[in-house]
Amino acid sequence: MAKLRIAEIFTSLQGEGRWVGIPSTFVRVSGCNLRCVWCDTPYASWNPEGPHLEIGDVLKRVKVAGAEHVVITGGEPMLFDPVEELCASLSERGHVITIETAGTIYRDWPCHLMSISPKLSGSTPSADTASGWAERHESTRMNLDALQALVRSYDYQLKFVLNPEHSSFQQDLEEIDVVIAATQPHPSHVLVMAEGTDSETLHRRQRLLVPICLERGFRLTPRMHVDLFGNTRGT
Ligand code: SF4
Repeated sequence: MAKLRIAEIFTSLQGEGRWVGIPSTFVRVSGCNLRCVWCDTPYASWNPEGPHLEIGDVLKRVKVAGAEHVVITGGEPMLFDPVEELCASLSERGHVITIETAGTIYRDWPCHLMSISPKLSGSTPSADTASGWAERHESTRMNLDALQALVRSYDYQLKFVLNPEHSSFQQDLEEIDVVIAATQPHPSHVLVMAEGTDSETLHRRQRLLVPICLERGFRLTPRMHVDLFGNTRGT
C-alpha cells in the first residue's frame, strides 16, 4: 500500500481563509519544493520529519478524530502521488477536503477547496542560503500556468502572505497584480494574510494591510490559530 511521510495529524479549527473557524483535521505531509524564508512549518520543508505512514493508517487516524473537514497541508501535498489515493478515500467517506498548496504544480484530484498560496518575492531566502535554495526557490515559486489551471478546475481561494514592513512589499503587490491578471479570480476569493507568528506582529501588520485591502478590494484573512495559541504545533 502507498505510503506518505507525515509530519503531523491534529484536529483544530481552521484558522485562515474562506472556511475559517470550521473544525478540521489537518494532515500535514512532510516535504516541499520551496524554502520560504519565513516558513512557519520548517519541520515539513527545511528539515522534513515524520514517519512514512500507509494511507490506511492515515484514514484510521482521521476517522478517530471525527471531523467532517479534512485539510491536506504541508509542505507541498501536490508533490506526492499517494495524496490522490488519500483524497479519493476521504471523499468516498464523505469528508470535505481542502488542499493547501503553493500552486506550483497542477493535479486533478478530488478536492472541495483548493487553497492556493502563491509565494511572492518576499518569501525568497537570502542568496547565501546553504544548498542553493535561494535560486531553486526563486525559479520554482511562481508558475502561472499551474495557477490558471488550478483556479479553472477547482473551487478555490488565492491567499497571499504579505509583510507590509518588508522591503519587498511593493514588488509583492505587483506580483499579486500579475497573478490576478493571469487567473481572473472572483474578488471574494482573493485573500491577503499578514505574515507573523505572534499576535502583536500580526495585528500591527494587519492594520497596515487594511488600506491596501480597501484600495484593491482584497479580503483580509486572520491567522486565528496564531492569535489563539501562538506559533505552536498542533493548532
Ligand atoms: S511553500 Fe509552505 S511549506 Fe513550503 S517552504 Fe513555503 S511556507 Fe513552508
